[in-house]
Amino acid sequence: MSFNLENITRENIKDLKPYSSARDEFVSLGEDMVFLDANENPYANGVNRYPDPHQHKLKALLAKQRGINKKQIVLGNGSDEILDLLFRAFCEPNADNIVSLPPTYGMYKVLSATNAVENREVLLNADFQPDIDAIFKVVNKNTKLLFLCSPNNPTGNLIANDLIESILTEFNGLVVMDEAYIDFASTASWINRLDEYPNLVVTQTLSKAYGMAGIRLGMCFASKEITTVLKKIKPPYNVNELTQQRALLGVKNSDKVATQVEEILVERKNLLKALSKISFIRHVYPSEANFLLVKVDDAKLRYEQLLNAGIVIRNRSNQPLCDNTLRFTVGTSEENTKLINVLKEIK
Ligand SMILES: *Cc1c(COP(=O)(O)O)cnc(C)c1O
Repeated sequence: MSFNLENITRENIKDLKPYSSARDEFVSLGEDMVFLDANENPYANGVNRYPDPHQHKLKALLAKQRGINKKQIVLGNGSDEILDLLFRAFCEPNADNIVSLPPTYGMYKVLSATNAVENREVLLNADFQPDIDAIFKVVNKNTKLLFLCSPNNPTGNLIANDLIESILTEFNGLVVMDEAYIDFASTASWINRLDEYPNLVVTQTLSKAYGMAGIRLGMCFASKEITTVLKKIKPPYNVNELTQQRALLGVKNSDKVATQVEEILVERKNLLKALSKISFIRHVYPSEANFLLVKVDDAKLRYEQLLNAGIVIRNRSNQPLCDNTLRFTVGTSEENTKLINVLKEIK
């Protein structure tokens, strides 16, 4: 393969000099300095100073936990911001294109529309796996990004490793592995393979397994060359002080996350069994995430009935290959019991 980051980076981004913030020009080394450089209010209240634009503490902890170099990490206001940075760094509006594989996460389409980048959609096959031949039929020299979501939302399955490997090897743009649900999966993260594939970008988030959707913290792991480009264009203070503090605590307490994930996996198994026995549920798809996709007789009707009983789920029927499907997030034991009881009662 002939992947070359220079070739896929937009000219204006190559030439760009990033904004140099007050905190870039002077970094405190711990001594008692008087900070009169950023026009902040001097009265301390915990958040009167700008946050660390490089999130050093959080990155150091993440790097240690995941066994990679700190320089291989970019953090964002949710992984949605990371995905947007990828578009802006590598895709020339009204010229370049990306490939996404529906049914999948809706933001790839929204971000391509916002950035005026063509979204070439290649449907997953009946097993929800990528169709390699069809993908390479639509790929051309302007294809800059290819999104793989594994475990995939809303189908819940993992993408097969051999297919991912062949895409990584044959594709000359960036392969973005969206691992929002990796903590629930039975396989290892592709972070471990970054050294093998210079065109691999892995995104993760604290929004799902870590239970911190409210703070908005997304993570990107890639080569130092790729992270250097993304860091050039990210807003300097994109991860606020409160988020950095809470994220640090959450990542430090990853034991608690692991315990909750185990409980959610037990619940997922029980829920799958119970759902399979409901008369109007035709199929429950196996899941490697914290949700289950099910095929029903009449998704619209069942959605309304659940809503009337006070249970909010997602109707995914408008997605290709997802006719009459509903997506249930795995809740607490009590919530799942309530769901099953309601499902048993509705006619
Ligand atoms: C939920 C989700 C995200 C969103 O992550 P944020 O960090 O909350 O922006 C990204 N990708 C997929 C596949 C998701 O389901």
